[in-house]
Amino acid sequence: MQPLVFADNLIKKPTENEDLYKCVHCGLCLSSCPTYLVTGLETESPRGRIALMKAVHEDRAVLSKQIIPHMELCLQCRACEVACPSGVPFGRLMEATREQIYVQKKEPFLRRLILKIVFHHALPYPRRLYFIGRLLRIFQRLRISQIMRKIPGKIGQLHAQLPSLNGDFFRPSKESFRPKGQAKSRVGLLSGCVMPMTHGSTMEAVVRVLVRNKCEVVVPEAQVCCGALNLHGGDKEQAKEMARRNLKVFYEANIDAIIVASAGCGSTMKEYGDLLKNDSEYAEIAQVMSEKVKDISEFLVELPLDPPEGNLGISVTYQDPCHLAHAQRITDAPRKLLRSIPGVNLIELNSANTCCGAAGLYSTLQPKMSQELQRKKVESVLQVDCEVMATGNPGCAIQLENGLESAGSTIQVKHVIDLLDQSYNV
Ligand code: SF4
Ligand code: SF4
Repeated sequence: MQPLVFADNLIKKPTENEDLYKCVHCGLCLSSCPTYLVTGLETESPRGRIALMKAVHEDRAVLSKQIIPHMELCLQCRACEVACPSGVPFGRLMEATREQIYVQKKEPFLRRLILKIVFHHALPYPRRLYFIGRLLRIFQRLRISQIMRKIPGKIGQLHAQLPSLNGDFFRPSKESFRPKGQAKSRVGLLSGCVMPMTHGSTMEAVVRVLVRNKCEVVVPEAQVCCGALNLHGGDKEQAKEMARRNLKVFYEANIDAIIVASAGCGSTMKEYGDLLKNDSEYAEIAQVMSEKVKDISEFLVELPLDPPEGNLGISVTYQDPCHLAHAQRITDAPRKLLRSIPGVNLIELNSANTCCGAAGLYSTLQPKMSQELQRKKVESVLQVDCEVMATGNPGCAIQLENGLESAGSTIQVKHVIDLLDQSYNV
């Protein structure tokens, strides 16, 4: 029997595991949990998952096929953390659990092999990612790609989940982007792994908006993916390696803030201090630098913002990305930005903070639940009389673009910053 060992092997006895034993079983988190809302099963709820973690930790159960699927169905959306009156850090508990599944090689062989390739041989290497992106883009332009999209079953589904890579890719640069006149601050921009290829034009807009707001922007070439996908998939050691690399790069860039336009990446980078708290070389720098990490919306509303003047004349609804609303607790800043744009009529979306089912690699690994959550989210968006659905995370944008397109909707999905940039340039 292999007991569940918690973060960094620090927690050896149940009584020492403060995080796990904070849960008082009140059930107040249940109605916020997307997987519980779909299934109605206790085992697919935060409380049920914590009970299973405890059972494994206390040697009353093993991390087996009876338990692992309940852990893997969790989206790591952290909606339960916001609802919990006892302050249970569920995200941290689930990361530790996923780490044990990964370290103990409990996944099926093929899945483990694919994850290993993605985590170790693709994500840490931006050049390889761009190469894969270029190949995918060529493939998407071929007619066979359109045909494969329509094949019923898994091949068609997998294909329909792919983001369109038709736009220009955004790339880090040796040069910095400077405003006219004196810059008020110098900021570093995280480029990320997927977003520069799927949303290159949004990254360009982020740079323009920052420059417009008197920031000098550097996008260091030596940076890598933030490590969020590794961390959520259980590959904590590789995530730490990627965090060290980014910390060194941004530290040497001598910046006032690290700006992130992808909610999932921002949330991970803000937790670098916790991730590397026992690292003899990087603990201090991780603490200092993680405090400099800002989501782009959070940074802009604190400036104060150069008011946009171009009238867009559109109705917009907003989807809260889980890692912005729940992990970073940022819900007002993106709405403030949207309301600051002349001619934007912001209409609130029903259940705006419920996960859309994207959740990193989740849409590929758990397609059934992901599609159900996508269907529910699209249903909510279609009830709103709007032309644009705004969000702040590339994963959510891809999930909703695909869902709305399949539903035959003409509603466009945009990053909040795309709209702000548009207003600056009308
Ligand atoms: S992280 Fe999300 S899916 Fe997982 S238990 Fe919490 S609310 Fe449910
Ligand atoms: S709300 Fe918190 S304390 Fe209550 S059951 Fe959920 S995790 Fe446990």
